[in-house]
Amino acid sequence: MCGIVGYIGKDQAAPILLDGLTKLEYRGYDSAGVAVFDGEAIKMVKAKGKIDNLKSRCNNGESLKGTQGIGHTRWATHGEPSDLNAHPHMNAKETLSVVHNGIIENFLELKEKLQKRGYTFLSDTDTEVIVQLLDFYYKGDILSALVETLRRVEGSYSLGILDADDSEHIYAAKKDSPLIIGISESGNFVASDIPAILKYTDKVIILEDNEIVRLSRDSVEIFNMDLEPVDKEIMTIDWDISAAEKGGYEHFMMKEIHEQPKAIRDCISPRIKDSEIMLHELRLTEDEIKDLKKVNIIACGSAYHAGCVGKYVLEECARIPTEVFLASEFRYSDPVVDEGTLAIIISQSGETADTKAAMKEAKRLGARTFAIVNAVGSSIARESDDVMYTWAGPEIAVATTKGYTTQVCSLYLLAMYMGKIRGTLPDESYAEMLKELLLLPEKIESILSEKEHIQYIANRFSGLKDVFFIGRNIDYSAALEASLKLKEISYVHSDAYAAGELKHGTISLIEKGTLVISLATQEKLYGKIVSNMIEVRARGAFVMAVTNEDNKAIEESSDYALYIPKTHHSFTAVLSVIPCQLFAYYVAVEKGCDVDKPRNLAKSVTVE
Ligand code: GLU
Repeated sequence: MCGIVGYIGKDQAAPILLDGLTKLEYRGYDSAGVAVFDGEAIKMVKAKGKIDNLKSRCNNGESLKGTQGIGHTRWATHGEPSDLNAHPHMNAKETLSVVHNGIIENFLELKEKLQKRGYTFLSDTDTEVIVQLLDFYYKGDILSALVETLRRVEGSYSLGILDADDSEHIYAAKKDSPLIIGISESGNFVASDIPAILKYTDKVIILEDNEIVRLSRDSVEIFNMDLEPVDKEIMTIDWDISAAEKGGYEHFMMKEIHEQPKAIRDCISPRIKDSEIMLHELRLTEDEIKDLKKVNIIACGSAYHAGCVGKYVLEECARIPTEVFLASEFRYSDPVVDEGTLAIIISQSGETADTKAAMKEAKRLGARTFAIVNAVGSSIARESDDVMYTWAGPEIAVATTKGYTTQVCSLYLLAMYMGKIRGTLPDESYAEMLKELLLLPEKIESILSEKEHIQYIANRFSGLKDVFFIGRNIDYSAALEASLKLKEISYVHSDAYAAGELKHGTISLIEKGTLVISLATQEKLYGKIVSNMIEVRARGAFVMAVTNEDNKAIEESSDYALYIPKTHHSFTAVLSVIPCQLFAYYVAVEKGCDVDKPRNLAKSVTVE
């Protein structure tokens, strides 16, 4: 779920581990810890809360001497966040130390067996069974003990391991939780994510499930579960470190909001050649695309909201029945899926546990799986039949911005591509949409240039308790995302409603001073949404409209109006969400919230 960093090399390990953990803070965590081996003993320091607490407990690493070590940021799944439950965990003799990301599903059964054999457990975590099992199987050879251990644990793990009998190596292993190796002149690294080590090296090996790693100061060995060597490709990562830092903005979120024009360009432009969308990623023949019977979009959170936009566009362009599912629901329902189904799986991190499980279920039922993912080499990307990368770059703020808008743009490309092949999108419409699609980045830039106006309005409303977002059709899908953005970072209660549903219950919540944000970009529905705005205003609501720049008439039925440049009606979701992202951001900043790391949230939800 959270972060692992390990190092063995020529330099002192503790400062490198602490620095690496800091680079992984964006993933969200509740405690942190490091263990360092000095050739004699393993020394461990752990602290609940921020990494700064950990740093002050070990004098910024000064009090932990040694050139090999492991570090962890934890997002508790078993046992409350506490010093004791923080990782690393050690055996009683303090000769083995383990950090773990993931969940050991059969830990209770293993724990009971070990307790019967005299093992005492110090923490409430599932992780502790790993170190105790390692101790149990250890007969002088840690690799064999690790294989025995891994054969008995069920669930997901990425692991970093120190062995006090071995001053030449550190160890790692993974299954269903990401882990990479970094290689440099001055030592080798293991980490759950690339930014942790990017300052030290750009040479990386991406590990697959059931691989076991032995790192020395100058060598990397990777084995399968039979301890046979495995050959791996070394990749060069071309992100520079500044891509993972704030770049002058106060928060990663604001930086990432401003990165959207570039991210969308990077997503769209390489896929358009000679006025044609090239989507080689969808490895289906034209006939197979024509024969598709339906699309199921499966995702969680903002990716689900992107999917909701996708439904409208796929149905309009490709005339293909499209259903959008929350992954956590899909995986336990009994969905009607068959060979004629294209399952579109959307996940920024490509590690979202529910989405991954739902994808496996869709596959099992015979669907063709097409993943829209940001993280290159992530589990969903690897396991789906086809993958389209959104190329949004690393996203650090927990609340997604460019992750979401590039997902929506990927769906636009897919819908138009399929529409063209299926003959359901006329040539003129295709050409017109393509032209508009390429203009989206500069239209976003023009919205961003007006951000002070949005800040002014946001400051005025930062004391509010409840906000409602309303919209119809694509505006409703965008409203879902706009509302989520506000509640996740500013902790203001907000909800999104299909505007036509107001009279069926929701309108009873409207009272004097309630803010209603109305997304009104669908020209054919202006009249309808304006009626809804008038209804809520009549009950005392303040109405802020987000509408097209040529719809000045809206000012008669709203208290504030924010304008977006005119675009194709299918593409407004990518524009109307921008002022809403900014609104959420400014409300959160005004309230003093931790914008980049909202309480209780993690960036990449890799457990169920
Ligand atoms: N399941 C483990 C725990 O609760 C690991 C959580 C994590 O991945 O951070 O300690």
